[in-house]
Amino acid sequence: MEDKRAATVLQILRENFAMPKWTKGKRNPFETLIVTVISQNTADSNTARAFESLSKRFEIKPEVLANAETGQIEETLKTAGLYRNKSKTIKQVSRIILEKFHGSLQPILSLPLEEARATFIQMPGVGPKTADVVLLFSAKQPTIPVDTHVNRVAKRLGFAPANGDYEAVRTSLQSLYEQRDYLVVHVLLIAHGRRYCKARRPLCAQCPVNMHCPSRGLWNDKA
Ligand code: SF4
Repeated sequence: MEDKRAATVLQILRENFAMPKWTKGKRNPFETLIVTVISQNTADSNTARAFESLSKRFEIKPEVLANAETGQIEETLKTAGLYRNKSKTIKQVSRIILEKFHGSLQPILSLPLEEARATFIQMPGVGPKTADVVLLFSAKQPTIPVDTHVNRVAKRLGFAPANGDYEAVRTSLQSLYEQRDYLVVHVLLIAHGRRYCKARRPLCAQCPVNMHCPSRGLWNDKA
């Protein structure tokens, strides 16, 4: 029953949102890791500006960033928020990849999913969301990263327990969908959360999946 509702919601989201072109191919894993570290608690526009600034100053390679001065990395990340912590993380993670994995993420990406996740999460400043983003987008591993939008929308739709933590939301969503759809689910729940299922005042009346949502109308907008 829930599977059917989940499939219907996904079908409607597919009809309402285009998948961005960049989701078609595999993304460079190290760049994806760095972008995701920068994006933590930061708006996309600021993440993009900070990554562009970092890329202009440095080649985005572990051997380059491991040997860069932290202060120089900081200068490029000022638009990103928490830039001191993020600069430290980028340098430390680059050093670990350089020294433990010979400068390549491939050995980690080739591990079974849970081992790969655990290896990433052991790195300083790398949490489950960052690990899952890299594994999904750069290795096509079957996992659904849970960012703030995915978390909120999944709970409102009743696809994850209301008080569920990261793992509860991830595994609940994964149990509802086929592995081949994980990337689409991640991308479309974010798109939906941005356009309709907003954090403060969701637009339930205009929402294309409102007929299938148990939270519809909880915000008194005459949905
Ligand atoms: S009906 Fe409202 S709460 Fe439910 S998914 Fe749509 S916008 Fe979100």
